[in-house]
Amino acid sequence: MDENFLLQTKTAQELYHEHAAKMPIIDYHCHLIPQMVAEDHKFRSITELWLGGDHYKWRAMRTNGVDERFCTGEDTSDWEKFEKWAETVPYTFRNPLYHWTHLELKTAFGINKLLSPATAREIFDECNEKLKQPEYTARGFMRKYNVECVCTTDDPVDDLRYHKQTRESGFEIKMIPAWRPDKAMNIEKPDFADYVAKLAEVAGMEINSFKDMVDALQKRHDFFTENGCKLSDHGIEEFYDEEYTDAQIEAIFAKALKRQPLTVPEQRQYKNCFLTVMAEMDYDANWTQQYHYGAIRDNNSIMYDRLGPDTGFDSIGEFNTARAMSRFLDKLNKKGKLTRTILYTLNPCANEVIATMLGNFQDGSEPGKIQFGSGWWFNDQLDGMTRQMNALSALGLLSRFVGMLTDSRSFLSYPRHEYFRRLLCNLLGNDVEAGMLPYLPEELGRMVEDISYNNARRYFKFY
Ligand SMILES: [Zn+2]
Repeated sequence: MDENFLLQTKTAQELYHEHAAKMPIIDYHCHLIPQMVAEDHKFRSITELWLGGDHYKWRAMRTNGVDERFCTGEDTSDWEKFEKWAETVPYTFRNPLYHWTHLELKTAFGINKLLSPATAREIFDECNEKLKQPEYTARGFMRKYNVECVCTTDDPVDDLRYHKQTRESGFEIKMIPAWRPDKAMNIEKPDFADYVAKLAEVAGMEINSFKDMVDALQKRHDFFTENGCKLSDHGIEEFYDEEYTDAQIEAIFAKALKRQPLTVPEQRQYKNCFLTVMAEMDYDANWTQQYHYGAIRDNNSIMYDRLGPDTGFDSIGEFNTARAMSRFLDKLNKKGKLTRTILYTLNPCANEVIATMLGNFQDGSEPGKIQFGSGWWFNDQLDGMTRQMNALSALGLLSRFVGMLTDSRSFLSYPRHEYFRRLLCNLLGNDVEAGMLPYLPEELGRMVEDISYNNARRYFKFY
């Protein structure tokens, strides 16, 4: 993992070192906790930083036979948890965790040793010693990785106080909220009616109908805009194309408020309507909308009951969603309400489906208006990112790609941008040296800088 890690050719090395490496990071979708940035969180230990919420690592540990106590338990110490992770690391050969772990040790802490039971104690101590120093804080890590801007993931009822606090503190890195109204969409969830009540309270109005809820959401959408928001995000299993009338939606909504069960077709009608209304709101505010689709979540009900969501029990779903996606985008386009859109699939079988879908709705108003989102979650690794870029290259314009994001809760995930940039340079370098692309250092260099940074900067219009 030296300076030419993943860079197999001279051209790739040149592109990376002269162009990619110097570009700042715009991390336009992540799950950082805004309070930690506002308060410039100091980490108790490398365990808090690494294993506190990282379900990728928990999954690997469980697979390696580690007891749950050492993943999420409260009766085990930071050292005990770290030790179990160190025991697991040598078994992660060829899993992306092996690369992430060592890239993070190297770039965040300057540690070039391999993590294993033999080195666990010294690495644990060295990291913890560094974490006591003033530059090893939440903000310190963001500075270290040359981050320019991050977009968090926020619920419409959030008061965004930590965004405001961060802005007012004069922190030079921008933390912008992003609108994620999943709880208002997930009408089948047992807490839906409670959520609507909360939304009513925050918006300062009564919600007795779907129309009221849209008005409340519009108020919150405006509030998010006032706080710099330019971007929405939806976590959906699939796209929906069930037809509906206003009367049907009101009837479905009324049932949900009374906590009566809904049929699956009713849920799908509602979601189709909800996502359409949200998309129109985004268009009117000149935001970008993102759709993360294709996950099948909370598969292990015993563990869901014990630990709740996002604890490492989700996987790739298989939904036939191309037709519904097409109808959904077409409906918005016909109304003249299709804003900039990023489509992410968790199932890489749909890479080509999406890469070709984009072209249906590019309207020449700006470059890359409809985007194929970077390899996400299970695809956020060497093979997954490469496949995404190859599909986009063959069926769209890689040059117009807005590039990488961490989608992470961790302040140590920024090396994923480096990893992505190295892969990108390597793909281009291999093509040049195989004679498939001309050796045009200036043009290729510009392409790399665009995908690493400039495209996102232009596309999102954050500032
Ligand atoms: Zn996400």
